[in-house]
Amino acid sequence: MEQLRIFVPDWLEGLEILLVALLFFRILLVIQRTRAMQILMGLLVLASIYLFSQLLNLELLEYLLETVFQYGVIAALVVFQPELRTALSSLGENRWFQGSKIRPEDLLIEKIVSAVKVLAEKKIGAIVAIERQISLDEYGETGSREKIRVSSEILQTIFTPGSPLHDGAVVIAGNEIRSAGAILPLGRVRMQHRKLGTRHRAAVGLSQETDAIVIVVSEETGAVSVAREGHLQTKIETSELREILGKALLDQSSDT
Ligand code: ATP
Ligand code: MG
Repeated sequence: MEQLRIFVPDWLEGLEILLVALLFFRILLVIQRTRAMQILMGLLVLASIYLFSQLLNLELLEYLLETVFQYGVIAALVVFQPELRTALSSLGENRWFQGSKIRPEDLLIEKIVSAVKVLAEKKIGAIVAIERQISLDEYGETGSREKIRVSSEILQTIFTPGSPLHDGAVVIAGNEIRSAGAILPLGRVRMQHRKLGTRHRAAVGLSQETDAIVIVVSEETGAVSVAREGHLQTKIETSELREILGKALLDQSSDT
């Protein structure tokens, strides 16, 4: 009996530590992929200013920051609503044990990847924006509004020179083309983006304003680039594109 009582808590504690570690791991995974990381950095800065003001006894600053933190919790709940939803539903979904189930996004990714591959080989210029958490509706409005199931052939057809909608971007949300011929915002120009043409800058621009993934095929070189979070990754191989899209769309598989 004595032995058993000592044994049980140890075992439970081990389990608890494991569960907490897994939970933190999941939360970190979600944070790492989202805006949450930037905001977390901002919070760290605020927290250090707070510590600083406490050390130096700067009462007004201290009071202000305390108020910010109090209301900040509510603000954070609102701001992070999409992330929280993703995090909670991915916890409930338990993808750890599902192994190699084919997800609908995998099929979508294959269609996009195959279209991009053909367009690149033929050096047909293209720009495709893929919606994630933040809606792209307002950007789609600048082009022709559509509701077409994505297929590799349709994407190729749209961008073929001479097609009425080959100019401008295709906007994809879920497994549908929502707009074609859309004009995307050019965005702030960073030093490293100054030499880019307008198509590539538009891709960077949209990825600065939203969490969209934007794929560009250059008509000059046939090179494939991907813009996300304001950065342009160039000369992307097919397998790399598949991987990037897989990671990017994994987040929201629970939404649709
Ligand atoms: P490429 O390497 O394909 O030439 P680029 O970055 O040099 O690309 P441009 O040559 O300036 O870009 O433009 C090529 C095409 O990109 C345009 O004909 C147009 O179809 C498309 N494009 C340009 N600006 C935008 C924009 N703001 N939104 C969507 N598409 C755009
Ligand atoms: Mg050009």
